[in-house]
Amino acid sequence: MGRKFVVGGNWKMNGDKNQINEIVNNLKKGPLDPNVEVVIGVPAIYLAYVKSIVPDTIGVAAQNCWKVPKGAFTGEISPAMIKDVGADWVILGHSERRTIFGEKDDLVAEKVINIGLSQRSDCFQCFFMNSNNEKLPFQVAHALESGLKVIACIGETLEEREAGKTEEVVFRQTKALVPAIGSNWDKVVLAYEPVWAIGTGKTATPQQAQDVHASLRNWLSTNVSPEVAANVRIQYGGSVTGATAKELAARPDIDGFLVGGASLKPEFVDIVNATQ
Ligand code: PGA
Repeated sequence: MGRKFVVGGNWKMNGDKNQINEIVNNLKKGPLDPNVEVVIGVPAIYLAYVKSIVPDTIGVAAQNCWKVPKGAFTGEISPAMIKDVGADWVILGHSERRTIFGEKDDLVAEKVINIGLSQRSDCFQCFFMNSNNEKLPFQVAHALESGLKVIACIGETLEEREAGKTEEVVFRQTKALVPAIGSNWDKVVLAYEPVWAIGTGKTATPQQAQDVHASLRNWLSTNVSPEVAANVRIQYGGSVTGATAKELAARPDIDGFLVGGASLKPEFVDIVNATQ
């Protein structure tokens, strides 16, 4: 079975009810390629509202969540809450979370594992070893039912790319996720988003993106399994527009997009339909 093309819209901290109505009406009008999976990442405060107005064929994602089910974490939301309002995805490790809010590889992985372990109904208190071999306790009892799917973001900065470290960085970021994901790779989409391309209008060339996607797949084949490497979907993100999507989508290892700015505009439909 081939990898189903998956296009995510990341609205970031944008939109009010009026604009959301417009975006959703535009998506309803489409027409959207039925062979493409579409997921919109909306501000947490509008998750329930968006869920109540979008067709079931469109997935709804939170843009972040905390790593434990509930408790004294002012301002945070949990996977269980996301699920409770009917959303089924969460975007984790976005470069804005990593750079502006200081989220590190290990924290991102912990968030993923908390969700990934949701099948283990026997596990009330689990431990996760981070890359420094520290034992990190976390409670999964509440996330057990969450069953969220995850868009996990990775990508290098301009400085890292110019220093020839792109592969080193994306491999390191992916490696941190591997123990967290465990056998749940079918619930994970990797989003390769070079930081220098996000919100800058500077899309990676199709060849630049293809090269990183192909090396990631190679890395996964060696370090996880050939099966996971063949099946996991890798999105490209960073200034994707209606004009650049088709050429990117034609590359064999690009299985979709994570779209910021253009996901707020009518051209998002063209991006969804880029493989047609
Ligand atoms: P952009 O954002 O499309 O506006 O560059 C992409 C992202 O941050 O996911």
